[in-house]
Amino acid sequence: MNNVREPGVTGASAAAGQLPVVANFIAGQVAAASSPRRQPITNPATGEIRGEVVLSSAADVDAAVAAARDAFPAWAGMAPLRRARLMNRLLALVEQHKRELARAITLEHGKVLSDAVGEVERGIEIIEFACGVPQLLKGDYTEQVATGIDNWTMRQPLGVVAGITPFNFPVMVPAWMFPVALATGNTFVLKPSPLDPSPSLLMAELIREAGFPDGVFNVVQGDKEAVDALLVHPDVQAVSFVGSTAVAQSIYETGARHGKRVQALGGAKNHLIVMPDADIDKAVDALIGAAFGSAGERCMAISVAVLVGDAAEQVMPRLEQRARALRIGPGLDDASEMGPIVSAAARQRIRAAIDAGVAAGASLVVDGRTFTVPGHEAGFFLGASVFDHVRADMALWRDEIFGPVLACVRVDSFEQALDLINSHEYGNGVSLFTSDGGVAREFARRVQVGMVGVNVPIPVPMSWHGFGGWKRSLFGDMHAYGEEGVRFYTRQKSVMQRWPDSIRKGAEFAMPNARG
Ligand code: NAD
Repeated sequence: MNNVREPGVTGASAAAGQLPVVANFIAGQVAAASSPRRQPITNPATGEIRGEVVLSSAADVDAAVAAARDAFPAWAGMAPLRRARLMNRLLALVEQHKRELARAITLEHGKVLSDAVGEVERGIEIIEFACGVPQLLKGDYTEQVATGIDNWTMRQPLGVVAGITPFNFPVMVPAWMFPVALATGNTFVLKPSPLDPSPSLLMAELIREAGFPDGVFNVVQGDKEAVDALLVHPDVQAVSFVGSTAVAQSIYETGARHGKRVQALGGAKNHLIVMPDADIDKAVDALIGAAFGSAGERCMAISVAVLVGDAAEQVMPRLEQRARALRIGPGLDDASEMGPIVSAAARQRIRAAIDAGVAAGASLVVDGRTFTVPGHEAGFFLGASVFDHVRADMALWRDEIFGPVLACVRVDSFEQALDLINSHEYGNGVSLFTSDGGVAREFARRVQVGMVGVNVPIPVPMSWHGFGGWKRSLFGDMHAYGEEGVRFYTRQKSVMQRWPDSIRKGAEFAMPNARG
């Protein structure tokens, strides 16, 4: 990791007095971009500009895709067990550099360090899953489909695949993609968010250090220009996208029009139902952590509490008290439970959504709009906000805010709660708190949402189960990672074979192995 200038800012060296620049990573090297366009990288806790990220052009995308295309034949032809061994080395290195990666996340995203460590750990789990790729690539075989004829299926990699990722999980979301893509024999081009680009280069350096061949993993920094170039590039076979719904839909449509396989994960509005028989203290703990963890900037954050019957009378006073007591401060301060918002623009957008909620007539029980952290007045902080009496005709319920704002809706029955959730355009995550197993079963069966928690607030599936929402939270047929991820990054080939005059081979005395 020779290119590390300071935690979180890597890439081309800066001349004296100039800001460090986060560059691309192509064919095993940190690479300057051909485009002169750049964007500042800000530390959200202080408001300071700590570097710049290059905004790549189509020519830079071409260079990255060419490196990936050149690396593909040898990588795809390598025994899966050998690819798995490289993945094992990466697993050890990411584990070893976990805190460095987490610090880089906190310095550019703002989330508290313990949460950033948790993010890296969820990424590590996918790398661990990908270490089992020989088993995952096993095909099916039918002997004697007709006399002397056998038929089998195998799964082969697609070629160059691209990942386009959001700001909110700069390590975990790329790790939903590249470990499975690489392990199955594809080569990869990552386009991270320009808001927090440094972790992508740290990861690239770890991948190189693990011994992956040059060109197998590449990074192009940038914005829409780089994305558009990837979407129409004839050598890109598949695109995995995670981000907001409008962009997800356009990426799905454009990618498909250019003949690519696309999975595009979009936005969310996740509900948590509290039944009157729930353990109310546990439900309030869950709401506070899931609504305000990572300042609500998680696609699985809970942004709507659905309080059934007299649960509202029990939940609201505790929620109010807990939201006011949240410890908000810089992410590197161990005492902080919630860090700043990622950017000044995002904070402005969230404040405007709160203003609109007040204007629409919802009761703002806790108002975080003017919150400041002493000594960090230039940081992008917001307090926690809690609304009561939110209704389904309000934007507060309908739109994703992606900030520390919890909307509470009061309903009379479980059926009303279920109807409310099923009528939403998004279907990413959902949760139910109850002590009634029958209600929980009915909920899991009937709710129109891709990831369901019962007494679990944020049900992010484990690496072997796969991640994905329903409705306008996911465009495409396959979820991320898990066996669906393996299917997404491979295509099936069926072989039918007959050997009427089998050729005899000479005797072999050495044990065959993955190197042979
Ligand atoms: P975003 O849509 O603004 O950006 C995502 C990626 O797309 C970035 O790499 C960005 O540079 C690029 N991009 C942005 N605008 C583009 C455009 N017009 N054309 C082409 N590319 C463009 O999302 P964000 O603000 O970085 O992330 C937050 C969003 O991501 C939220 O909506 C959140 O719900 C969603 N998200 C969803 C999941 C999920 O699994 N469903 C996970 C994490 C985040």
